[in-house]
Amino acid sequence: MLEIDKNFKNKEIYILVTQTFFFLLLAILVMRVFDFKNEASTLYSVGSSYVFIVIISLIPLIRLVDYKHTILLDTFINIFFILIASFLLLKEEQEIFKILYLMPIVITSLKYKKIYSYIFVGLITLILLGMGFLSNFIYIDADIMLSGVLFLLAWLLGNMTETEAKIREELERLATHDGLTDLLNHRSFQTILDEKITEAKGNKSSLSLLLLDIDYFKVYNDSLGHQKGDIVLKAVADIMKNNTQGKGYCARYGGEEFVIILPEAGIRDARILAEKIREEIEKTEFIGMQVLPKGNLTVSIGIAQLPLMADTKEKLIQKADEALYKAKFVSKNKVEVYYSVFDELSLVLKDEEQELLNSIRTLTMVINAKDRYTYGHSERTMELCRKFSISSKFNDFLTKNLIYGSLLHDIGKIEISREVLNKPKKLNQSEWEMFKQHPQWGADIIRPIKTLQNSLEIILYHHENYDGTGYPKGLKGKDIPIGARILRIVDSYDAITTNRPYKEAMSKEQAVEELAKYTVTHYDPIILEQFCEMILKKDDEQ
Ligand code: GH3
Ligand code: MG
Ligand code: MG
Repeated sequence: MLEIDKNFKNKEIYILVTQTFFFLLLAILVMRVFDFKNEASTLYSVGSSYVFIVIISLIPLIRLVDYKHTILLDTFINIFFILIASFLLLKEEQEIFKILYLMPIVITSLKYKKIYSYIFVGLITLILLGMGFLSNFIYIDADIMLSGVLFLLAWLLGNMTETEAKIREELERLATHDGLTDLLNHRSFQTILDEKITEAKGNKSSLSLLLLDIDYFKVYNDSLGHQKGDIVLKAVADIMKNNTQGKGYCARYGGEEFVIILPEAGIRDARILAEKIREEIEKTEFIGMQVLPKGNLTVSIGIAQLPLMADTKEKLIQKADEALYKAKFVSKNKVEVYYSVFDELSLVLKDEEQELLNSIRTLTMVINAKDRYTYGHSERTMELCRKFSISSKFNDFLTKNLIYGSLLHDIGKIEISREVLNKPKKLNQSEWEMFKQHPQWGADIIRPIKTLQNSLEIILYHHENYDGTGYPKGLKGKDIPIGARILRIVDSYDAITTNRPYKEAMSKEQAVEELAKYTVTHYDPIILEQFCEMILKKDDEQ
């Protein structure tokens, strides 16, 4: 690719050099015709005639100045050249001067479409005819021959140039587009994203990035074969392209993952587009999609926005990726916008607390990696707490502490071994004793962060039962802080609606029934009723 570009640059230089030579020839001929030297007995006029030659020969260099309108400049240069050459011919009537007409034809047919050089051939033929008329057509045979040669030259060189341009276009396409889906390839995506981010930063506008991944695609491929899989990839790419037209750039990120760059788009626009694409794919019939777990081929989409959520390309991709993973873990066939309570927290934390927060962030990542069955549990619990706070209209203070507390409630599990966390059977007595320590350990970990003080109790008491049979303190009823009573319910709900080492996930209805069995014993009955109402109401809406 680079080699080709270099060749084309070289071609431009050769054309410029040829043009300069022709202009040099023109200047010398003009000088000869007007016999400058005869009058030039003084040093001054000898000098001025050389200056004249140099100036005329350098005319083609004007093209170096203006790159946008080269076609206009070339036309101007050619017409200027043809007029002077014709003038010389008229004045001197020397056939050899006709060789000058080669220049405009060679230059235009090497650079532009054939039709353009044909126009110049026509113009030159007319001029030759005109001059033939003035000289009673003495040289008409030579003129016809010359016009024929010029036409042939224009055709030959023009064809060569057009073929060359087509090859260049095709090679460029191959280098920048994905062969299967015809979307931009990974490399072009990176280049365009770099450019668009620089532009967005320059004019202080936003830019959204959508990361799309086909759900259960491995299952589809394994059951129907890669060729059918390829058809799906192409169809998904087409849906993306049709919906994005004029708004952004679609690319294949790799495998069955795609990206869309939306310059000047905020989260609202990005979400609307993502939902449209998700819905259209969900409604499209794909061959054999019945083999998939949900009987339907779907995609999940993660969205992140610059500058709100990230200020560099790497961070933006990473955030969109995190949002995509969240969408996958919540339910698949989902659009998820990046959200991180850690980002929100780091905005309100004091400088000296930032470092501690970073450590906690790392700890949660470690827990996620250790406890693979509950991956995403903290995030989901936090999300549910947030929804519950909104639907129950909890005040800002409680909402905020509940959100922080729910995200960090299991942080004490960092002290518990991977074997215990992932044990498929019931824990033995000593393991159970250790496991029961995690609320206390979690509270200890966040204790140094002042901003999180009000979430500390929520973490410490999130395993207390309403009847006083919980741990670590055995608090009872309203003695348990309200945030902890709420989290007790939400935490249980998420645990029983997702797969665990020892249990299959329950449906929402089953989960509500299950929780109801423990009302008053484990859970605050009033809060439980409100929570179940929200869960079931959500079900009705869907
Ligand atoms: P998830 O729902 O979590 O996204 O699961 P998944 O099965 O879609 O994801 P995973 O990353 O495990 O599988 C991706 C599959 O995509 C693996 C591979 O068979 C398939 N794949 C990647 N590139 C191509 C391709 O060019 N053509 C075809 N037909 N399949 C591809
Ligand atoms: Mg994937
Ligand atoms: Mg996938």
